[in-house]
Amino acid sequence: GSDPMATLVIRQIPVLRDNYVYLAHEPQSGATAAVDPAVAPPVVDALAAEGWRLTHILNTHHHNDHTGGNLALKQATGCTIVGPRADRDRIPGIDVAVGEGDTYKLGQAEARIFDVPGHTRGHIAYWFQDSAALFCGDTLFLLGCGRLFEGTPEQMWRSLGKLKALPPETRVYCAHEYTQSNARFALTVEPRNADLAARAKRIDALRAGGKPTVPGTLGEELATNPFLRADLPALQEEAGAPGDAVATFAAIRHRKDNF
Ligand code: ZN
Ligand code: FE
Repeated sequence: GSDPMATLVIRQIPVLRDNYVYLAHEPQSGATAAVDPAVAPPVVDALAAEGWRLTHILNTHHHNDHTGGNLALKQATGCTIVGPRADRDRIPGIDVAVGEGDTYKLGQAEARIFDVPGHTRGHIAYWFQDSAALFCGDTLFLLGCGRLFEGTPEQMWRSLGKLKALPPETRVYCAHEYTQSNARFALTVEPRNADLAARAKRIDALRAGGKPTVPGTLGEELATNPFLRADLPALQEEAGAPGDAVATFAAIRHRKDNF
């Protein structure tokens, strides 16, 4: 349902080399989730600074830089850990397993769950429609996408297709600050994309000032992220795969792996 009072307050915590952990706080109930807590201590500090009590962990996938803080945070707070059903055996401390088509309520704020395999076989994304917020882990990055460790280009293209279909004003809360190097690569795919060139300049300015580029909007991604644009004839021609979005996506992903 659409309850304006259930809009999330979101805080971004930079951890490790380039990870982001998010706190998502639903003010009406006080429910507070840590999304992909790579490590525990910075999360504990951020909670204390806000005066929030941790009630949930939302994991997108099993990698340690997304789940490494699970057990310490659960032990300290008794929080409920939510994660992908398809990977429940690999999520430390998981209490609630969710998958495609499920909804999960963080207090009064409802998330819709998408299965988005490709980076890992059990990767999920959480879309809080009323907050226009998407927590997509390592599936979609600003100007990039996750490496295909456990999935095929076809799976990842289908996964990204689910995210592409969300409203363009959706804010993309991805789990890594990779945007500047992604922009350098994207410009090699679409050197004549004026929106991309302008965005790359804004990104350089943000990073020069030590500021995060994340979140961005899905609308910006649709206009500038080559991994979302493999269905466009110009990119397909360039990849030598006219009419074939999956082959075009695979070719771009392969080039990025070696960039
Ligand atoms: Zn990962
Ligand atoms: Fe990661």
